[in-house]
Amino acid sequence: MRTTIERRDLGPRDVLIEIRYAGICHSDIHTVRGDWGSVPYPLTVGHEIVGRITEVGADVTRHAVGDRAGVGCMVNSCRECENCRTGNEQYCLKGNTQTYAGVDRDGTVTQGGYSTHVVVDEDFVLRVPESIPYEAAAPMLCAGITTYSPLAHWNAGPGKKVAVVGLGGLGHMAVKIAAAMGAEVTVLSQTLGKKDDGLRFGAEHYYATKDPATFEALKNSFDLIINTVSAPIDMASYLGLLRLDGTLVSVGAPPEPLPVPVFALFGNRRSFAGSSIGSIAETQEMLDFCAERGIAPEVEVIGAEAVNDAYERVLASDVRYRFVIDIDTLR
Ligand SMILES: [Zn+2]
Ligand SMILES: [Zn+2]
Repeated sequence: MRTTIERRDLGPRDVLIEIRYAGICHSDIHTVRGDWGSVPYPLTVGHEIVGRITEVGADVTRHAVGDRAGVGCMVNSCRECENCRTGNEQYCLKGNTQTYAGVDRDGTVTQGGYSTHVVVDEDFVLRVPESIPYEAAAPMLCAGITTYSPLAHWNAGPGKKVAVVGLGGLGHMAVKIAAAMGAEVTVLSQTLGKKDDGLRFGAEHYYATKDPATFEALKNSFDLIINTVSAPIDMASYLGLLRLDGTLVSVGAPPEPLPVPVFALFGNRRSFAGSSIGSIAETQEMLDFCAERGIAPEVEVIGAEAVNDAYERVLASDVRYRFVIDIDTLR
């Protein structure tokens, strides 16, 4: 439904961004449908935002009018806690300010990127390199950084074997980034339906998880498994794929707790971990890394009128691999 939202007046450290594209993230759908709890309606979602800066506050130094800019999943944090001070503001101990459905400093509810303009503190605005196709840059602000951060933290690179579970919006970025980092990448998908795509994105191997032989063949293989699936998985089977000191990192969140058989962690001194987006500095590093290597998400651009249909297709896993809204259709 189309409506009018108010943005705050430009503060001295704020920038005004005229939005061009906004990606559709699974989180948007969970949020508007109330899957994750009560929703502060009326709400505009969207946390994969790119556009052009059209105005800057008096004290802004990091950005200029005309710059191509991006905004991801958070727009502020406390800046004082231990995690903020060490550059891990995504893990702000007081909770970072989410781009939408969060409570802003002035007490208002934050509104997301399915809109024509947004006002954001300059410290939470990314520089989007001009070499990245405009529409493809949007999903990097959530799907890109959510997969880049654990790959970087757990040292994906030459000599490392990385498995990516699920080849959706997050998974296809995980494959591209891990391959660009120099790791040997394997896709673990339910079927072999997207095998050609997976290999094109840089994977060397592709296995169907519906086939029990996969878990026999790949036992004790991987240094790192990035699980992008938000449905429950059989933890014993997946943990069994890790070699010595291997780690399984979940970035997709099933709504229910996931039972972890501790004996599967004893073998090979395995770890089970989670990871949430990335810091602003790391997000900038990811954008620059992808620009240098010519990596970008595969996107399907839609008009704003097609968002509801797109949601149905996301829920049916019928998107290759991310929907992006052309915000000009809102003007
Ligand atoms: Zn997201
Ligand atoms: Zn903090």
